[in-house]
Amino acid sequence: MKNRSVAVIGGGVAGLCAAVALSQRGAHVSVHERAPALTDVGAGLQLSPNAGRVLSELGLDAALDAVSVRSAGVVLHDRAGQQVASLPLAAHRPGAAFRMIHRARLIEVLAAAARDAGATIHLGHQITDPPKADLLIGADGLNSTFRRKLNGAEKLFFTGQTAWRALIEDSIDDPFARVFMGPKQHLVSYRLGSGFRNIVAVQERPGWTAEGWSHEDDPRNLRAAFAGFGGPVPDWLSRVGSVGIWGLFRHQVARHWHDGRHVIIGDAAHPTLPFMAQGAVMAIEDAWILAQSLDAIADQPAALARFQAIREPRVRRVVEAANGNARNYHLSGPARVIGHLGLRTLSRLAPGALLRRFDWLYDYDPVAERVA
Ligand SMILES: Cc1cc2nc3c(=O)[nH]c(=O)nc-3n(C[C@H](O)[C@H](O)[C@H](O)COP(=O)(O)OP(=O)(O)OC[C@H]3O[C@@H](n4cnc5c(N)ncnc54)[C@H](O)[C@@H]3O)c2cc1C
Repeated sequence: MKNRSVAVIGGGVAGLCAAVALSQRGAHVSVHERAPALTDVGAGLQLSPNAGRVLSELGLDAALDAVSVRSAGVVLHDRAGQQVASLPLAAHRPGAAFRMIHRARLIEVLAAAARDAGATIHLGHQITDPPKADLLIGADGLNSTFRRKLNGAEKLFFTGQTAWRALIEDSIDDPFARVFMGPKQHLVSYRLGSGFRNIVAVQERPGWTAEGWSHEDDPRNLRAAFAGFGGPVPDWLSRVGSVGIWGLFRHQVARHWHDGRHVIIGDAAHPTLPFMAQGAVMAIEDAWILAQSLDAIADQPAALARFQAIREPRVRRVVEAANGNARNYHLSGPARVIGHLGLRTLSRLAPGALLRRFDWLYDYDPVAERVA
């Protein structure tokens, strides 16, 4: 990578993680982010060990541990708050890091590491005319201009699902992410570092909502939509002061990820529904495999082709699993009774079988991937 110039468009999780991985290998990296500051955009993220292995290899464990909470796994509840199943994911793979973190803290850690490794970060740069560089990385997220240049216009469709995201102050110690499942809606909540709790509430409804990070809604709409939920949910929702709202759209995985000089990574190449909590995680895996491929294969077009060949089957599987989870969480009528009963029984009688369903996802080690 020595002396290769790389321009990264987009200073989100994918772009900054690629900047760290490439700069540490000796590339000259500049990051161009349209936002005027790396501010508190977004909300909570769960980072599973498949991303944790990359972040650890980049030397970020201590910095991340200081600003995140370790997760013990996931507990599924019904709408009333009764436990349906417990997935102690961390105990199932000792030593692996499941973290819960505010996106802004992750961005700060990645930006500091990128600068430490020699990358420059330009803020307030809306890129329309790409800078000169040997390699241009489109890490420009949903609605990527780079994706359109490589693939033409994309057909996406509204899933009929809307997500609210909110943060509340909460210092009660709870290492589990909790999912409350009701007919046509579910709510996920987990603690973040610094005394905050993250809430994501998803509801099926016909109305259309724009996609993106920063659309505000009235918290009363969220409370009204989830009024039928029990357990800790009413208390959490009564404490929501401001809330963002997103329409969830289904995207195709891009067909063309590169043309020899340009490459797309993260949401620019393969946005996913949030129901496996893997969008940022896939962005981190991408960043690592891209850097590994470019480092191991001198011919840049061949390296980019190898990158896509390694990444595409995995992200397709994740995207499909997330599409499937949307259905499982929102069961209604008899399907719900049977589904929850099955989960309760499995969780009690064969907890290992339930946990092993996720081995393909969480046990994957991008660092051990043979790229060449
Ligand atoms: C409700 C919800 C919950 C989620 N929960 C999780 C979770 O728990 N775990 C998880 O892993 N993922 C989660 N995700 C997904 C995750 O947030 C995204 O997949 C991830 O942020 C994608 O990172 P990215 O860097 O590709 O894109 P982004 O983070 O969107 O970054 C793109 C950047 O590019 C910049 N940009 C765009 N165009 C230009 C331009 N022309 N010039 C310069 N800059 C530009 C933007 O300003 C932005 O900073 C969730 C998503 C949603 C909607």
